[in-house]
Amino acid sequence: MRNFKRVLSIALVLIMAVACFAGCNSSKADYVIYSDNAFAPFEFLGDNDKYVGIDMDILAAVAEDQGFTYEMHNVGFDAAMGAVQSGQADAMIAGMTITDERKETFDFSDGYFKDGQIMVVPAASTIAEEFDLRHQKVAAKTSTMSAQYTESLSTEVGFEIDYYESSPEMYQAVITGTNVACFEDYSVISYAIKTDNMSLKTVGEIVNPSEYGFAVKKGTNAELIEKFNAGLKNIKANGKYDEILAKYGMTA
Ligand code: GLN
Repeated sequence: MRNFKRVLSIALVLIMAVACFAGCNSSKADYVIYSDNAFAPFEFLGDNDKYVGIDMDILAAVAEDQGFTYEMHNVGFDAAMGAVQSGQADAMIAGMTITDERKETFDFSDGYFKDGQIMVVPAASTIAEEFDLRHQKVAAKTSTMSAQYTESLSTEVGFEIDYYESSPEMYQAVITGTNVACFEDYSVISYAIKTDNMSLKTVGEIVNPSEYGFAVKKGTNAELIEKFNAGLKNIKANGKYDEILAKYGMTA
């Protein structure tokens, strides 16, 4: 009986040690980083319920190169911006366009990919230019560059806007006819149309082509931006960056 008790207490101590190790370890990541959750090919749910994509791979490669650890939370674009601003997240990587306006509240890394927005309509739509949106209802994804562009166009052309939290919800609204069009980053909508065989098409020219950047709240985590820039430079030099883009069918 005494032996049994001793074995039991040793077992308990071991179990607690392992549990603490696992638990403490995961909360001991150097940084907490947030991202979008449905913005393929930059971040999206892959097989085995794991988030994959260009942003996920670039960050993993940079972290490995610079020797830091992080916890990733894929919560959506607007939610990620909120988490960085509230201090809940140290940084975000989410196909986020670097703009002067955002620089008032965020500090950005060097750019790592260039893209702009384009109009998206159902494959059978007759909408051929922006003015055709007059008196219609257009979809936009909250807090994005596409939303900003849609808002300025709406004052010019005259149409209503419905807001969605995610890219797939926005596409769905256009496919089902709730909205006649949306604007989306060109490489992202092209990937969606091709990969998911969506009955959508792009119309017109790409607007506002700009760089994507890794972002922290303005005035915080300066060392993380430095590490990201240094790592990005290294993975560009050693071919890893090109390899990541190629894996998702992209080129810089
Ligand atoms: N590049 C766009 C922006 O920064 C969209 C980003 C996104 O939806 N994840 O607003």
